[in-house]
Amino acid sequence: MHVVSKMSISASKCKSCDRTVIPPRTICPYCGPKAGDMSQITVGEEGTVLSYTLSQMPPEGFDPPILLALVQLQHNAVVLCLGNPEDSSRIQIDKRVKVLSGDDGRFHFSPVEI
Ligand SMILES: [Zn+2]
Repeated sequence: MHVVSKMSISASKCKSCDRTVIPPRTICPYCGPKAGDMSQITVGEEGTVLSYTLSQMPPEGFDPPILLALVQLQHNAVVLCLGNPEDSSRIQIDKRVKVLSGDDGRFHFSPVEI
């Protein structure tokens, strides 16, 4: 069975350089105010892993190990996500993952089984 999800992630798209950024902003971080306000859009929650790391020396406030991944979503938006360290053996470059916005204000990802 194929599950269609309606979840989406808020993002902003620049009318000038066409870049998409997450989390959404008013002003493009690349062009500045001269490009005008960014368009507020949503992108799908599924993306692919660009790179990832299992860190034994995470930033303060995290218990090691932590699994971090840069995930590319629609419109080339890239978001840094936390994963479950137990999933690290199932994560690889180009792996399909699902990204969710957590209650903690961070993005979390989990592998998508095909
Ligand atoms: Zn721009």
